[in-house]
Amino acid sequence: MKEKIPTRIYLTEEEMPKFWYNLRADMKEKPEPMLHPGTLKPVTAEDLAPVFCKSVIEQELDETTRMIPIPQDIQDFYRAYRPSALIRAYYLEKALDTPAEIYYKFEGTNTSGSHKLNSAGPQAYFAKKDGLTSLTTETGAGQWGTAMAMACGFYDLGLIVYMVKVSSEQKPYRKALMETYGANVIPSPSNTTESGRKILSGDPNTGGSLGCAISEAIETAVKTDKCRYVLGSVLNHVLLHQSIIGLEAKTALDRYGIKPDIIIGCAGGGSNLGGLIAPFMGEKLAGKSNTRFIAVEPASCPSFTRGRFAYDFGDTAQTTPLIKMQTLGSGYIPSANHAGGLRYHGMNSVLSKLFKDGYLEARSEVQTDVFDAAIRFMKVEGILPAPESSHAIKAAIDEALECKKTGEKKVILFGLSGTGFFDMTAYSSYNDKTMSDHIPSDADLERGFASIPGIPQNK
Ligand SMILES: *Cc1c(COP(=O)(O)O)cnc(C)c1O
Repeated sequence: MKEKIPTRIYLTEEEMPKFWYNLRADMKEKPEPMLHPGTLKPVTAEDLAPVFCKSVIEQELDETTRMIPIPQDIQDFYRAYRPSALIRAYYLEKALDTPAEIYYKFEGTNTSGSHKLNSAGPQAYFAKKDGLTSLTTETGAGQWGTAMAMACGFYDLGLIVYMVKVSSEQKPYRKALMETYGANVIPSPSNTTESGRKILSGDPNTGGSLGCAISEAIETAVKTDKCRYVLGSVLNHVLLHQSIIGLEAKTALDRYGIKPDIIIGCAGGGSNLGGLIAPFMGEKLAGKSNTRFIAVEPASCPSFTRGRFAYDFGDTAQTTPLIKMQTLGSGYIPSANHAGGLRYHGMNSVLSKLFKDGYLEARSEVQTDVFDAAIRFMKVEGILPAPESSHAIKAAIDEALECKKTGEKKVILFGLSGTGFFDMTAYSSYNDKTMSDHIPSDADLERGFASIPGIPQNK
């Protein structure tokens, strides 16, 4: 008889990962390189040096080292809130009456409330090691800014956070939390930067966007001494740090001989999904597994399912290097009524490539369906999920119900990337039925696509 799987599986300290896993090293076809927007040549470490800190640039450009050591200092940082639990969703399985086995990796127990601390810690550590004194960043829903505020508090670094204006209004306590950790939080677009002033002069009432906040943060980093910019998603070094999620999950499952048939994650810029799937995708690329991978995104910001695979800027002001990715165009701004997070216009280049090559599936969901799934989940599993994470819950439930129809006993693993404690405004609008769904029209998307640069590689 098979050993009964515990409801919560934790790794021991000895089992904790000592290396991050760099999935690119195992990709036979690598993602295309980032390009310098002026020369259209692949970016060099030198090109990136004014914006990012040195150690992080090395990781960003490294596509050959498979296993990258986690510095002892970061292992210790992780120990303060990791391992995260791998949870067997016995109650959800029962509620759905499905033969499927459902597992989820819960990243929401640290104070910032999401997986983002997994990269914030290393980024602050490397900045300190490289002799910087302050950092700038942007935040949308607030999780990344909070994670950076915690990490900068820990490593004693200054931090300016440009927070998307609508989010700072919807989530005043996020702002207060960052300030309590010592960060300076500025609603974006702001009058403190040229890019902010330019956007405000075009549209004084804009609620802002992640792309626009990124422009402001980069501008300030470049203009400030011993200051660099940090990004919480999209880039490859962030996915590298997030591989801790997948590595822990895989060690926990391997202990019981469990092989997931389907792995699901929500996708904004791709970091929690990329981190969760990394070691499992490595096995698939090596021909050792047949696991299906599913990215779930909001219908109002569908960069996988309705985006283009093209070189595009990472920010609205079009200052970043060009990234070959699934994109809606850096000028795309999702509808203001969208409360489910995952509002970024582009997608990590590795995930975009895997999607293009057929290794990764994607689907989009409207927000009321996502919140339906969240409620269904939280009532039986006891955890209030972040709206972002609930996209993954929706797909996991659908896959489990599919198993119920076919009688298949599949193993489903999904990423529960965070908690929803700071998203009660969104839950309230769901409860009082003022939440509505917005699916952009083709014409809406065309307006975004028009901002994709017409460079030769995009022809
Ligand atoms: C930021 C965030 C996401 C989306 O970012 P990715 O880089 O795509 O992972 C998802 N879930 C939560 C809880 C987040 O805070």
